[in-house]
Amino acid sequence: MLFGVPVLEDLPSVDGRSVLVRCDFNVPLRDGEIADDHRIRAALPTLEWLTSRGAKVTAVTHLGRPKGTPDPAFDVAPVRRRLAELAPGVTLGENLRFSPGETANDPDFVDELMAGHDLYVNDAFGASHRAHASIVGPPSRVPSAAGLLLAREVEVLLGLRSHPRRPFVAITGGAKVSDKLGVIRALLGVADQILIGGGMCFTFFAALGHSVGSSLLEPDRIDDCKALLDEFGDRLVLPSDVVAMGPGGKIGDPEAGGEVRNMGRSVPDGWMGLDIGPGSAAEFADHVLEASTVLWNGPMGVFEDPRFEAGTRSVAQAVADCRGFTVIGGGDSAAAIAQFGFEDQVDHISTGGGASLELIERGDLPGVEALRRAPNAVEADESDEFNE
Ligand code: ADP
Ligand code: MG
Repeated sequence: MLFGVPVLEDLPSVDGRSVLVRCDFNVPLRDGEIADDHRIRAALPTLEWLTSRGAKVTAVTHLGRPKGTPDPAFDVAPVRRRLAELAPGVTLGENLRFSPGETANDPDFVDELMAGHDLYVNDAFGASHRAHASIVGPPSRVPSAAGLLLAREVEVLLGLRSHPRRPFVAITGGAKVSDKLGVIRALLGVADQILIGGGMCFTFFAALGHSVGSSLLEPDRIDDCKALLDEFGDRLVLPSDVVAMGPGGKIGDPEAGGEVRNMGRSVPDGWMGLDIGPGSAAEFADHVLEASTVLWNGPMGVFEDPRFEAGTRSVAQAVADCRGFTVIGGGDSAAAIAQFGFEDQVDHISTGGGASLELIERGDLPGVEALRRAPNAVEADESDEFNE
């Protein structure tokens, strides 16, 4: 058991039993072919754990966004072909979202899914923040467990919340402050320092009375930022300088012109702050290098445009060089670390964008809660108490 969540070892014997494994095989397709099979390969350890112990395994996944009805554009056949090569003997069920019962969490659909299966394993972390039938239904009916991928996410992300090695430095960035305020509040309960970059720093700057020009700003969140700065200002670190683009410039199109300039916190009219400045990048890197635990969520600037990637690159480099335990959550931050080639120098890159944010923020997910209430989890909990 891991934070009350049953893992594969907590299942009854799988030998000769039929196991339904909820996977996240929502792979990118190009012209009907798999463009990147990373998600399929990532599930192999769990599938092999089960098949090597004599289980009959059926995997299920969603693919794309069909509208609750069969749609040839989202046929799982390419995934089925790849899976047959990588994990012979494992069957793949139909796209879960071909049925309206999946997103509606219809109990009849759960029955249909579980028909003929004795046990259930959830290894779809990226879908576990959704209370969909295949995620929350089965654990109330049969002995269930988190697969290896989900278990690792729970171990790392709940571990950060409950017993991080200190100093614990969190770096938050990305576009919208409204997406991240919940995470910042949750992290303030456990992190020693929170470095704030990305588009969201401008709402904090506005809260401090600075002009932000045409930078991203969420006026209805200024008061929230002000309240956080008043209460936790000693632990929130804002950039001291930014990189901004002048009138006429266009994001993603250096040819369009527009001046790019380093400046302090105040951004004049017509200018747009698109990265943290070099002074802040160095300061942020220093904090990261001294940390024993690092959590990074959200790029420091519009790293997709080479003119505004330097801040994100410096932070990525520092996370890679840091000797502490380093974790990346969030799809765009993971893309950034891969773009800069530091993927292998990070301890854990979370595979779920929304799911990792919610697990850090709330300490739980619908799919994780459901596993914690599985019949085998409840029994194990009681015996734990008995042993104390
Ligand atoms: P993650 O997926 O890692 O959680 P987000 O989705 O919150 O990150 O944000 C990523 C996006 O934020 C990137 O596409 C990036 O271009 C954008 N971004 C970062 N800084 C700025 C900024 N100063 N202005 C506008 N957009 C920004
Ligand atoms: Mg994102």
